[in-house]
Amino acid sequence: MQIFDYASAKIVNSKVDIDFPERFDTENPALVLSPPFVDIHTHVRLNDQEDYDSLNRAALVGGFGACVIQPNTKPPIENLGVLENHIRLSKGKEVKFLHTVSLFGDIEDLDELENFKDNITGWSTDGIRYTSEDLVRAFSRKKNVLVFDHSQIHEIPGDFYIGTSLPNALRTYSNEAIAICRTVLTGLEFGFNKFHIQHVSTVQSLEMIEFLRRKAQITCEVTPHHVFFLPEDIRNTNQKINPPISKDRDALVKAVRDGVITCFATDHAPHPEKGDSFEQAPYGSSHIEVAFSVYLTVFQDVELVLRNLTVNPLRVLDKTYEMLDLHFPDDAVLIDTSAEYVVESRKFLSKGKNCAFEGQRLKGRILGVRRNGRWVYWNGEFLN
Ligand SMILES: [Zn+2]
Repeated sequence: MQIFDYASAKIVNSKVDIDFPERFDTENPALVLSPPFVDIHTHVRLNDQEDYDSLNRAALVGGFGACVIQPNTKPPIENLGVLENHIRLSKGKEVKFLHTVSLFGDIEDLDELENFKDNITGWSTDGIRYTSEDLVRAFSRKKNVLVFDHSQIHEIPGDFYIGTSLPNALRTYSNEAIAICRTVLTGLEFGFNKFHIQHVSTVQSLEMIEFLRRKAQITCEVTPHHVFFLPEDIRNTNQKINPPISKDRDALVKAVRDGVITCFATDHAPHPEKGDSFEQAPYGSSHIEVAFSVYLTVFQDVELVLRNLTVNPLRVLDKTYEMLDLHFPDDAVLIDTSAEYVVESRKFLSKGKNCAFEGQRLKGRILGVRRNGRWVYWNGEFLN
């Protein structure tokens, strides 16, 4: 067994003194013990479409110890009442849930929310239809903290990028890059200086981010689907995702290797049955349980994958594991990097079975999950 040492962000050959639920070959070098993963982009819908219990179990099995919830819940997290409700519902779970607040709602100063400070990571525009006017109004009223930006010019229609043969393929390729530029430059004008760009999908966006990094502090993420699929791989509505799968998959993979992209996220987006109509299906894929394996299958580099699921997302949040009350090795994930399996979303613990990776053969599996010094999940079973 090897250890992922998060201080050096390297896999090392050291020993940890912990017990295991059963006897097995602890000398096996394919086994890696890591701190829990951090997902800075998770959706919980509530109202029967995923609640904090189903998400907690799904995230645990996926290896995650902390998730940052986006505000497009039902109702959206845009006022104090809804925010308090989410913090109450998500309290006391094995996964540490953090929250973002809609940039367009009633709350104007997050630092004023004394009791919530440890639970809130910033503003977010994710999942909300907004105009340029909304952005200007919001930036002129809100206090400066980190902004998670779902960068999209919503006035331009289209579910897929122009050039694909899919229905309603009208979205311009430049849409995302223009939206990134609009958010950052507008925010800067009102004193905002920290931006996290969500699910980057095009090379033009990466070029825009590199340009804007001269002016502001900008981090960015990729998602499992954007580094796995090309537009020609789209066969069913579970692969209808926002932003759409783009032709730039290989360039996104390279940008991760080159360090241009700060970290991995899941954009886990559970939905009930999406149906066969590409025009009518909602956006999103449910996949927090298999996200690690997707990344390992694509990158074939355990150290790179763990870095992008642990220390790099923490850097975006400007937090440490200790601040999230996660302490290695009392809180840890045991990974079998040699395992392979085929995704069967009907077995998911998430209420969302709408998985873009259904039927895919993936590499690497979460063997065990440890929380507060105790194994809570082992080899497919929850332990009491
Ligand atoms: Zn999202």
